Amino acid sequence: MKKVLIIGAGPSGIFTALELIKQNAKFDITIIEQGHKIENRACPKGRGLDCVHCKPYCNITSGFSGAGAFSDGKLSLNCDVGGDFPQLIGAQNAQDLIDYTDKIYLDFGADTHIEGATETEEIREIRKSATIAGLKLVDCPIRHIGTEKAHQLYYDIEKYLIEHNVKLLADKNCSDIIIKDKKCIGAVVDGEEIFADIVVVATGRKGADWLDNMCRQHGIGREPGVVDIGVRVEVRNEVMEKVNKALYESKLIGWPAPFHNKVRTFCQNPGGFVAQENYEDDLAVVNGHSFKNTKSNNTNLALLCSHHFTYPFDDPITYAKKIGEITNMLGDGHILVQRLGDIKAGKRTWPDELSRTNLKPTLTDAIAGDITSAIPYRTMISILNFIEMMDKVVPGFASNETLLYAPEIKFYSNRIKMDKNLKTNVENLYCLGDASGWTRGLMMASAMGVHMARQILDK
Ligand SMILES: Cc1cc2nc3c(=O)[nH]c(=O)nc-3n(C[C@H](O)[C@H](O)[C@H](O)COP(=O)(O)OP(=O)(O)OC[C@H]3O[C@@H](n4cnc5c(N)ncnc54)[C@H](O)[C@@H]3O)c2cc1C
Repeated sequence: MKKVLIIGAGPSGIFTALELIKQNAKFDITIIEQGHKIENRACPKGRGLDCVHCKPYCNITSGFSGAGAFSDGKLSLNCDVGGDFPQLIGAQNAQDLIDYTDKIYLDFGADTHIEGATETEEIREIRKSATIAGLKLVDCPIRHIGTEKAHQLYYDIEKYLIEHNVKLLADKNCSDIIIKDKKCIGAVVDGEEIFADIVVVATGRKGADWLDNMCRQHGIGREPGVVDIGVRVEVRNEVMEKVNKALYESKLIGWPAPFHNKVRTFCQNPGGFVAQENYEDDLAVVNGHSFKNTKSNNTNLALLCSHHFTYPFDDPITYAKKIGEITNMLGDGHILVQRLGDIKAGKRTWPDELSRTNLKPTLTDAIAGDITSAIPYRTMISILNFIEMMDKVVPGFASNETLLYAPEIKFYSNRIKMDKNLKTNVENLYCLGDASGWTRGLMMASAMGVHMARQILDK
């Protein structure tokens, strides 16, 4: 029986295994995961407590179901959203895969309701305001699982995989891949060599750095990608009410003057909570999530500014990390938060000033300070000008009390070179999901996993 070794138990890796099982394929499947099994994953932040900097790996980003377990569980059902994978296999193919993958999520208990599925008068009005502001509105129906339900859904998938003889080796770290005569023949896991016929690297955003090292070490074809650096914005629900009701998640894109870098909204959480995730070396990065049942008075969303490097510098991950480190340094290791009015006034925010407004920060251990001392000029100006454009679509978005948390960084940058069958330049080695640089969301990563399984079946 052929051996398939999947490194990383995020959505992309587990959907590869799921699809192989669904097609009754006879493979010996092993999944290596450096984090815990899902039932052993816990994060005090989910209970409103402070981050305890879990060692050796952050429970938010590591463990069975990867960054999906504590995510908001928003499945973007349109192939225009979630990464560039459609460029690789064609938009229609990608959409068909998404529709197929969505049915698997439904089979495992995802909510049948879809947000933003029908074109209403409100959506037309929002698009008109966006047009006037110079922003593009991307239509994307969303299936919202919710953080608590996502946890249960992935737990059911974990049980299903184990029942179907998938070997899930949790709390095991893969340090290297084994390549002989330009063929991948296995991986080194906790110092031990595991051999396989097919090796699938699905290590996610947090494993992107490690995969980049593997590429340099083993000559795996890669190209520098884009890096997204930005802030998480938090406003009162009343401010976002119109778009929250009409769209749940507004996907707006702009190219604000004077730099014309792409800036976009991402991961909008009505009634949600600003969250912190920790990467290796204790890099604290801001994120956001929302629960199906517990709601806050605020809406948060990311504003991300894309940066592309060519020559002589081509290491976007390091660039973004340095910015993250400086921001963390100014916040004494915590996420920094600043009121927009203070940025406009050219001053830092002081802790007591945060209690003087209608808006109460949902990330309670964020440190009031000055994010403009850490974020590069180009990024900061692009974001501030984008906020002014957003204000035309969402009046009140650019108000003085609006909160900006930093750093929000998306490490999906370096892209693995591959063809539509996901073949890299190393035989029997495949890369998937966010680590590959081709996806940046739950649904797209899961759909790429399904596509991976089909390539294995066709081999
Ligand atoms: C807080 C949060 C909220 C989010 N909300 C949403 C959302 O609502 N909607 C959406 O579409 N997307 C969301 N995302 C993004 C989404 O979770 C990711 O795009 C998706 O999980 C990517 O899947 P993946 O399989 O590529 O990688 P991941 O989910 O990152 O999984 C990779 C796994 O590989 C493991 N790993 C890494 N390196 C190694 C190694 N060397 N050895 C062994 N194991 C390793 C990691 O521990 C991890 O479990 C969110 C992300 C976060 C962090």
